[in-house]
Amino acid sequence: IQCIGVLTSGGDAPGMNAAIRAVTRTAIANGIIVKGIYRGYRGLITNEITSLETQSVSNIIQRGGTILKTARCDEFRTPEGRRQAHDVIVEHGIEALVVIGGDGSLHGARDFAQEHNFPIIGLPGTIDNDLSGTDLTIGYDTALNTIMECVDKIRDTASSHERLFFVEVMGRDAGFLALNGALATGSEAAIIPEISLEKDQLAEMIEQGFRKSKNSSIVLVAESEVTGGAMGVAERVKKEYPQFDVRVSILGHLQRGGSPSAQDRILATRMGEAAIEALLEGQRNVMVGLQNDELVLVPFAKAIKKDKPIDRHLLDVLRIVSR
Ligand code: ATP
Repeated sequence: IQCIGVLTSGGDAPGMNAAIRAVTRTAIANGIIVKGIYRGYRGLITNEITSLETQSVSNIIQRGGTILKTARCDEFRTPEGRRQAHDVIVEHGIEALVVIGGDGSLHGARDFAQEHNFPIIGLPGTIDNDLSGTDLTIGYDTALNTIMECVDKIRDTASSHERLFFVEVMGRDAGFLALNGALATGSEAAIIPEISLEKDQLAEMIEQGFRKSKNSSIVLVAESEVTGGAMGVAERVKKEYPQFDVRVSILGHLQRGGSPSAQDRILATRMGEAAIEALLEGQRNVMVGLQNDELVLVPFAKAIKKDKPIDRHLLDVLRIVSR
């Protein structure tokens, strides 16, 4: 392989820049030319491509977001759009791609790789931690730390006013941020989609004497149609328990920003290097994952399966320690 392309796609995540840096510098160290593709798959179709040198990725390891920008691209969901992208790739002499993104991005990568017999290595870049085959995704740890800082602040006001706060965190249809965020902040409970599908978590919480012994409470709610979001949950409580002084806080996009944590920078750097090593070994159409602190290669089909289990025991732990 003499020339590779690298892109970031889907939602941005802190640590994507550290990954771009590691991919670029490892490739250059192996005599490979690197092309940076702007705005994810859209840049492949609109031909927004530039060469990346060692200096192009200087001073970015500490920056949130992605210097290559990111976008959602509906054309890439169609075979015709992917054919256009392939034409541009061929024009630039790009022989393999490194795609940094979430499950949608890896879906696209798998389809493109199959249709055009093209080597792609994926890196899990999403704050949601919802890719299978990897214990952690790039950006998750930083987002968790941001949630922790925010909820600590909410707790100050919640306890001063003796209020019940429902704090909505991101995660798409996964509860990793909500559950581990709740553990890290000493929150009373986490309402997560994995469980909401099976039972009414709010009703159970109240039945178990929720707020009996406390004068302020914080509950983290994962954004999702299944949970109803923090607004949906709060509305129900207000109706059924008018005595509670209920407030809602939606953390929103601030969870996506900020300088990446040490853990995310190190993870992104290790994974970026591993992506190039994998390509040099002839690997293709796999995502780099982390399992028990070892880097592994996970077939795209497994990574995007949406079956990553949440540790249910942690819900019991949360219940016990927040009494
Ligand atoms: P995050 O989880 O952080 O939101 P993501 O990678 O899942 O990131 P998506 O918006 O789902 O974000 O996907 C990014 C892009 O990947 C889409 O805009 C589209 O171009 C492509 N893509 C997503 N799903 C598919 C699919 N099923 N087939 C082909 N391409 C897809």
